[in-house]
Amino acid sequence: MIPRGIGLLGGTFDPVHEGHLALARAAKDALRLVRVDFLPAGNPWQKDLVSPAEVRLAMLELALDKMAGFRIETLELMRLGPTYTRVTLKTLRKRLGPSIPLVLILGGDQWRNLHTWRSWQELAEYADLAVCRRGREALQTSPEVASWAKSRMTSAEALTEAPAGGIAFFDMAPHEASATEIRRVIRTQPFAEAMKKVDGWLPLEVAAYIRAESLYGAH
Ligand code: ATP
Repeated sequence: MIPRGIGLLGGTFDPVHEGHLALARAAKDALRLVRVDFLPAGNPWQKDLVSPAEVRLAMLELALDKMAGFRIETLELMRLGPTYTRVTLKTLRKRLGPSIPLVLILGGDQWRNLHTWRSWQELAEYADLAVCRRGREALQTSPEVASWAKSRMTSAEALTEAPAGGIAFFDMAPHEASATEIRRVIRTQPFAEAMKKVDGWLPLEVAAYIRAESLYGAH
């Protein structure tokens, strides 16, 4: 089948790591997407919680530089404070026109908490939703999301038959990388030691950038 549709993978990407890249690859293959766009979140009000937008963008650019089929969508990046996903999807839908499938990629944790998102039911007006199941993880959600999703559920292969409105689950082999853990080991031990602890979690260019810029207290 010919690939169709564009995937959208939101996150803070502080830093982007191999778990994110594996997720994007799994989504692209399972959902037959033309490409996946990484959607880094804007700067929060309390800036010290997250690295500045330009730093997170630089790491994404390094990680995706040689990877065909992956791009960066900077729509939310320079905004201060929270951006509602519904508003982002509406903007992207306007830009794409009505017929190109747009697929919002969600992790199991986001699926579980979807009922807490602003105007969550409206997401499906603008995009399909694809929920990633990592390994044997059980995908659970709130009763209201479950009953809303029931009539929209379809297979991963069939999801992009409609430009929006469908929901599908897809699988990926678990990858243990965690941005929180990466930041923690870099902060608490010499950089070379830290890199041994998170071996295989960071693209080499991203690791070199973190070292050169002394991010996360690298020493
Ligand atoms: P942090 O530890 O700072 O919370 P994170 O990597 O969990 O970082 P984000 O950068 O916001 O958080 O993640 C973006 C998306 O990537 C989310 O949907 C999240 O579920 C998913 N993700 C994060 N780590 C992995 C992983 N190891 N394997 C697959 N998906 C992942």
